[in-house]
Amino acid sequence: MKRIAIYPGSFDPITNGHLDILSRAAKAFDEVVLLLAVNPAKKGNFTIEERLEMMKEATSSMPNVSVDFTDGLTVYYAKKVGSSHVIRGLRAVSDFEYEFQLHAANKYLAPDVEMVFFMASSNTSFISSSMIIQLSQNGVDISSLVPPCVEKKLQKKNAR
Ligand code: ADP
Repeated sequence: MKRIAIYPGSFDPITNGHLDILSRAAKAFDEVVLLLAVNPAKKGNFTIEERLEMMKEATSSMPNVSVDFTDGLTVYYAKKVGSSHVIRGLRAVSDFEYEFQLHAANKYLAPDVEMVFFMASSNTSFISSSMIIQLSQNGVDISSLVPPCVEKKLQKKNAR
């Protein structure tokens, strides 16, 4: 049986930190679904369509990765596609508290779906989507922190 994992997040926008976790997860599982999981009430930096487009472009060379979207609970999505594992990344202690709570909530909803945590790599551990937005708005070169399609999109956005 294929081992399918989902990697849910806001990806607003996708960064090299997300891609680092994703590429490591893609080696550990047969298939990984990079899942845009949004709270429709929360206004993001990018629209859902823009985020999905960047996620698809950034992962186009990864053969066992697909991109999808849900506005529901991620564990319900996991069950729907027969996924046994939910991937998340951990940067610092500050991530831990939220992820620990999320883990407990997910276990309450779906005890048979396991969460797997990958520790951030040292060279990408400081990257967050909000940090990227802030740096790019201040004219900082972010080419080594995000995939080229995100850099391009941010340049256009800032020029407006
Ligand atoms: P969410 O809003 O669900 O936290 P994010 O897109 O911010 O969505 O993050 C998705 C997942 O990726 C989270 O588990 C987050 O901790 C992890 N993550 C984000 N940035 C990094 C990074 N630079 N290194 C490792 N993990 C990261």
